Amino acid sequence: MDLKYLIILLTFLHSGLHAITASDDWSYSGEHGPEHWPGICVTGKMQSPINIATENIVKTDFGALKFIKYDSEFSWEVTNNGHSVQIKLVAAPTYQLVRIPIHLEGANLPSTYILDHIHFHWPAEHTMDGKRDVLELHFVHYNNQYKNASIASQHKNGVAVVATLFELNKENNSEIMPILERMRPLSNNTGANVTSITTKIIPRFFLPKDHTTYYHYDGSLTTPGCQETVMWYILDEKLLISDMQLNIVKNIGTINGTLGYNYRPIQTLGERKVYHHLTGYSIAITHSYNLLYVCFSLFLSTLLYLK
Ligand SMILES: [Zn+2]
Repeated sequence: MDLKYLIILLTFLHSGLHAITASDDWSYSGEHGPEHWPGICVTGKMQSPINIATENIVKTDFGALKFIKYDSEFSWEVTNNGHSVQIKLVAAPTYQLVRIPIHLEGANLPSTYILDHIHFHWPAEHTMDGKRDVLELHFVHYNNQYKNASIASQHKNGVAVVATLFELNKENNSEIMPILERMRPLSNNTGANVTSITTKIIPRFFLPKDHTTYYHYDGSLTTPGCQETVMWYILDEKLLISDMQLNIVKNIGTINGTLGYNYRPIQTLGERKVYHHLTGYSIAITHSYNLLYVCFSLFLSTLLYLK
């Protein structure tokens, strides 16, 4: 076995898959709501989520994000943790036969990032030109230099989150239907804070067909402790979901009744830049278009002058 991948695999298996967030003493409204979250959540300058104002973004080519092993089917534990629905890989014996863990690389990532878990926010946390979509899914990865996601979240560029946004559609999204069906038992579970089921999931079904075009910026976790160590990648293309499907997620119960919503309000962008990765985009192309335009204008003027 390739030593590099053996190390990655061992790191993954021994990570313990700890939750990144340390405390459960917070909520999305009331006396423990976002404006009362502690420390850097309030004082930070690189917080998430943000509104992506498309007229202020910087177009660039960072290179494509590479989703490794996202096509494979694994056993996952789906948990209602009282703040969201969280999907974590079950480290089953069969998984140990797989040489390469599910991970992210490419783009401007300084390292390889191992998938820790997937979770949902409803409605979406990031907005596009002020528009809020109905659902946002976060693929949370951690830098493989660190032992687990919890430790990685304490270090710069320790975490990479890929976000998929969902738009409402009349038709059911058949690809994600089996997964949502398995989530049903987690709905209407008022009174039970943590419940979980195990199911098989192919993570790619939660990615749009074009998962190479994305918006990128540096930000934070959107839950306490809000560590400013996250490289964000918000995919340009959206997935579709029907009202009926969305209701399965929305009806997730918590100890205080139905969760209702679980998005953090928009944070100030400040000095930060938001980039739009477009494959093949370069400033040189823009310059040559401009040059062509000038030449054409000169040609037209000459023609008019000669006339
Ligand atoms: Zn999230």
